[in-house]
Amino acid sequence: PHSPAQPRARAEIDLAALRANVRALRARAPRAALMAVVKSDAYGHGAVPCALAAQSAGATWIGTATPHEALALRAAGVGGRILCWLWTPGDPWREGIEADLDMSVSGLWALREVVDAARAAGRPARVQLKADTGLGRNGCPPADWPALVAAARGAEEQGLVRVTGLWSHLACADEPGHPSTAAQLHVFRDLLDHAEKAGIDPEVRHLANSPATLTLPETHFDLVRTGIALYGISPAPELGTSEELGLRPVMTLSASVALLKHVPAGHGVSYGHHYVTPGETTLALVPLGYADGIPRHASGTGPVLIGGERHRVAGRVAMDQFVVDLGGRTVPEGSEVLLFGPGDRGEPTAEDWARAAGTIAYEIVTRIGTRVPRVHR
Ligand code: PLP
Repeated sequence: PHSPAQPRARAEIDLAALRANVRALRARAPRAALMAVVKSDAYGHGAVPCALAAQSAGATWIGTATPHEALALRAAGVGGRILCWLWTPGDPWREGIEADLDMSVSGLWALREVVDAARAAGRPARVQLKADTGLGRNGCPPADWPALVAAARGAEEQGLVRVTGLWSHLACADEPGHPSTAAQLHVFRDLLDHAEKAGIDPEVRHLANSPATLTLPETHFDLVRTGIALYGISPAPELGTSEELGLRPVMTLSASVALLKHVPAGHGVSYGHHYVTPGETTLALVPLGYADGIPRHASGTGPVLIGGERHRVAGRVAMDQFVVDLGGRTVPEGSEVLLFGPGDRGEPTAEDWARAAGTIAYEIVTRIGTRVPRVHR
């Protein structure tokens, strides 16, 4: 069971499903361009293959959080437009200019650094001004927007920057009817209006993440930034399952049964003996643990499919392994354990794991660790 062709665990990445999701999302936002958000290694799915697959299905923008993620995509040969938005003082602005990145600016310190870098590089920087319209996180507060816009316009007139975008991010798009969404939209329109009156002529104005792309057409503007939906996962249970949203999960996480043992009733399982076998039974050892991203909060609750039947994690998830009580059944060692996937074979989904662990499906897929090889097909 442990030949290189069948490692102890694997995450299969179905790029055809990702392409189908891109097409489905473009149909939901027909007048907007689509940005494939591939930060954090494409939410654990592999940034380079996912970026290339998304582009082949019509995504014209790629988005990352950090400049380092964006530069790594360029180094791997990913072309097209790439926006990165999470800058820290001292970050590689000049490399960003030389790599033709679009670089988000949320405040005057960032504008100063990018202008200095543009002078040093001898060419203008592509900059997108980000407003905080109510998320309370990254982005320029409305009170500081006029100063940022004026400074950016001045740098544009000196040929040091080109403002390619004006944008913001929603706080509660995954909660249908939440009043903050309408309030953010209102603020965003005002800030766009101000910037445009000040002479900024952006290529793209954008606000929508996946839930907004799926449910709030008034937020689409020129570009939608989709992350989680690209990977076939529903942004929130309130919006429906991925199947109901017409999305297909891209990642299938599986492992091989590493050990089987027959034990009597009363056998304590894993740290703390939080599970004690109720009767004589067979235990299967699954070689994945919290170091691989299996949530310890799913101890006793995480669902798996083994030999066509559903079971739950018995006892605590440990760093590298967990145990499943097969009851009266037995399966050969090396048998496949499906943790999550699209659900076609009766396996759980990442959304099921999120429920079992009391978290969101974003966290389930992004945390699958580097010991688990990604197999793209
Ligand atoms: N835009 C920004 C600024 C983000 O930080 C993210 C991710 O959180 C996204 C878009 C994509 O969000 P989602 O995965 O909900 O589509």
